[in-house]
Parts: sequence; C-alpha cells; structure tokens
Amino acid sequence: MDADVVIVGAGLSGLRCAVRLEELGHQVVVVEAEQTVGGRLRTDLIDGFRTDHGFAVILPAYPALAACVDLDALDLRSFGAGVLVRRYNGLKVLADPAREPQWLLRSLRSGYLDPVQLAAAARWYAPVLTGVRRVLQSPDVTLGKSFDDAGFTGALRREVVDVFFAGVLGDSYGATSANYVRVLAKMFATSTPGLPAAGMVALAQQLADRITGAIRLGERVERLEDGAAATPEIAVHTTGGTLRARRVVVAGSPQSIPDLTGLPAPDTRGLITWWFEADEAPHPLPLLAVDGRRSDPTPPGPVWNAAVVSNAVPSYAPSGRHLVQATTVLDRPDGQAPEPDVRRHLAEIYGCPTRDWRVISRYEIPHALPFSPPPLTPRRPVDLGAGRFVCGDHRDTSSIQGALVSGQRTAAAVHASLR
Ligand SMILES: Cc1cc2nc3c(=O)[nH]c(=O)nc-3n(C[C@H](O)[C@H](O)[C@H](O)COP(=O)(O)OP(=O)(O)OC[C@H]3O[C@@H](n4cnc5c(N)ncnc54)[C@H](O)[C@@H]3O)c2cc1C
Repeated sequence: MDADVVIVGAGLSGLRCAVRLEELGHQVVVVEAEQTVGGRLRTDLIDGFRTDHGFAVILPAYPALAACVDLDALDLRSFGAGVLVRRYNGLKVLADPAREPQWLLRSLRSGYLDPVQLAAAARWYAPVLTGVRRVLQSPDVTLGKSFDDAGFTGALRREVVDVFFAGVLGDSYGATSANYVRVLAKMFATSTPGLPAAGMVALAQQLADRITGAIRLGERVERLEDGAAATPEIAVHTTGGTLRARRVVVAGSPQSIPDLTGLPAPDTRGLITWWFEADEAPHPLPLLAVDGRRSDPTPPGPVWNAAVVSNAVPSYAPSGRHLVQATTVLDRPDGQAPEPDVRRHLAEIYGCPTRDWRVISRYEIPHALPFSPPPLTPRRPVDLGAGRFVCGDHRDTSSIQGALVSGQRTAAAVHASLR
C-alpha cells in the first residue's frame, strides 16, 4: 500500500483535505496534474509582475479560513471597501462610510445614495442578519427576482450591484441563488477583500507546506481501479505509474469529475482576465471599477470589472510600474472580445488613454466557478462508496470558503470510513 489515502488534485479542497487527514493520523499522497499547487488559484511571475490565473480575492471573513490559514503570514493587502463607477458625468467613488469615512463626501456625490433604494437594499440583505445557517435553509429564488421582490430596482442595483456580482459570479443574468449571494454579501460587508503579497498561489502554498506526505506534481491521474475483494484497495493509475491506497479522494477540477467519478460535470460559468502593464496608474485608489453607464445591466463594452491591482498590492508590479486587470464574463458573446475592444473599454472606464498599455497575460477560464442556481444545495454527499470520495467547491459553494469546507468535510468522511 502506498498510502492510506490518495488525493487527486492539489487545489484548495484537495490540500485542505490532505492537511486534515494528516492531522487525523492518516498517511496521504497528493497527485496533481499541473506543475504547481493551487488549482484555479495559481500565480505566474512574468517580467516582475504577479498575474493570478483569473482575478480573484480573499475575503478574510470566510469562516473556513480561520480554521486552517494563517492570514497574517499571507501578508494580505486590501482593496478598499467600495467601488469606482463610471458614469456619464465622471468616475464616481461609492464606498462603505463605516470602513472608508475618508470617501464619505465622494460617495454622497456619486448620485447613488437614494434613501428609498438604500432601504430596499437593506430589506434584501436583512435575512442574513438572522444567521447564515438560517438563510441557507430558507426558500430560495434567483438573485434577480430577490432584488425585484425587495423593491431594489433602481440605478444602484442596475448600474452597480448587478454589474459587480456578475463579475464576481460569472453570471450576468442574475440567475444565481439569492441565498448564496446574501451570504457572499455578508462576507463583503464584514471584511475587505485582499490579496496575498506573493500572489493568490500563496494561499494554497501555505496549506501545501503543512503536508508531510508526498505531493506529486505534473502527474495526471488517468483512471481508478478497484482491487480484488480480498485486497480492498484502489489502484490509482497516473501518468507516472500506479499507486495503491485504501481510499481515494477526487478533488479535481469541475471538468475532471465525470471521468474520475462517473458523476455528471457540474454546470459552470467562465471568466477571462486580462492583465495589463501601465506606465501611469489610471486611477490612484485601490478599488474595483465597474461601468454603470447602462442599466440593462450589460455595460457598454466587454469589461465587467477592472482594478489597478498594484494600487492595493504594490508587490504585484515592479517598483514604478502599474498592473491593471480587466475581467470579461463568458456567458455573454462579448466575453471573448479581442484585445482592442478590452483596451478601448478600459480607456472609457478610467477616462485615460490605454493604447500604450502592454498585455502581460490573458487567462481564459471556461470553468471558473460552479454555477449555483436556486435552490442552493451546499453539503452535497461526498462518499461515493467502494472507498471513493469526491470533494471540491462544486460539492459546497463555488468559492474559497466552499473549497475549504468541502476538503474538511471529505476528510471527516474518509476518517470515519477508515475507522
Ligand atoms: C477567475 C476566478 C476567480 C475567482 N474568484 C474568486 C474569489 O474572488 N473568491 C473566492 O472565494 N473564490 C473565487 N474563485 C473560486 C475559487 O478559486 C475556487 O472555488 C477554488 O479555488 C476551487 O478549489 P478546488 O480545490 O475545488 O478546485 P480546483 O482549484 O479546480 O483544483 C482542482 C485541482 O485538480 C487538478 N486535477 C484535475 N484533474 C486531475 C487529474 N486527472 N489528475 C491530477 N490532478 C488533477 C487540477 O489541476 C487542479 O489543480 C475564483 C475562481 C476563478 C477561476
């Protein structure tokens, strides 16, 4: 036997599962097809710029982080608790007055703080104040319908909130579970998003560094085979040979699930992130920017959000240089927009020329996030029987939180089965 448990995939869920299983006294081997750990949260270092494989942020309020991640060691650098909104009459700041009082006047002048709409937004948000668990057990509808039901129908929703969540969820039709988005909104309301100074991959690397068993990188698992009844072990056939284990956890990416488990592929949403180098920062603030010039809510260009990431995390760019991300969503035809269109739209959003910006990298991630329509079904079964288990964000919620919880939950199930 090569290990008690072989874990397929060194994304956050697989790594979390491995750490927990070792804590419970089991011997694990992790097999990862790519050359680095992190799965969907990896970082490239290109000419001194750190470009994550898609723009993602850490919300420190995710409860699962507290259980297994040393956030101080990640040296998180925060974005502001607000957004920039391109309007026809300028680029406005809209920020949480409690956390960003210095931008209060600018927020008041944004034109979005209509008391009726703020009251509607509060009505929409209120259920989460009774507790996350309660929200998740409540009747669920789509995000769009939940906003309508709360009377949250004005410019703040159409031009800012809809556009913001479309970029976060990869769903520009507001079809995601309202209960899930309420919980996510609570994470945004109670913590400020940030990035590790060394790039997103540092989160996964921290977990990987705690694993004492082997992490076999660059080795793809091709198939699993049951042992004979007399030898209750599973053969894990990889591009590097065969491993034998008492249990196997498939913590692969959404698209690898059918081949390795026989389960249907989770429905997903896709994103493309462009990373540009700029000589001058197009804006001084560390805020996500959205285009609020249309209210249907498709922005008048392919970019659903942008940010001068180096304003928030200077270590993402060499000294004196600036790094800008732009994200398009793949559920719209212009998600695949060519570079000139992305560049032109960024020029409109920031109100400055972008023709001299240099493309550093572009990441197209068709399966960025499992789609979570209503009713939300977190905590899906992880025990497939015959010693096989499945974990990943698609078993819980499509987020860092969901991946970590899934890894933890699956470790508990494997542990119980081994005992
Ligand atoms: C662009 C983008 C933006 C995001 N933004 C956010 C955000 O802001 N906040 C947030 O909370 N979440 C965000 N997410 C979601 C978050 O990244 C994921 O929920 C989480 O990383 C999923 O981890 P996982 O372990 O479930 O899967 P994955 O990260 O997909 O890991 C699966 C691993 O399995 C490996 N693998 C697959 N098949 C095999 C095989 N046959 N053999 C060996 N290895 C295999 C893969 O290479 C991969 O490393 C974002 C995701 C993307 C892509």
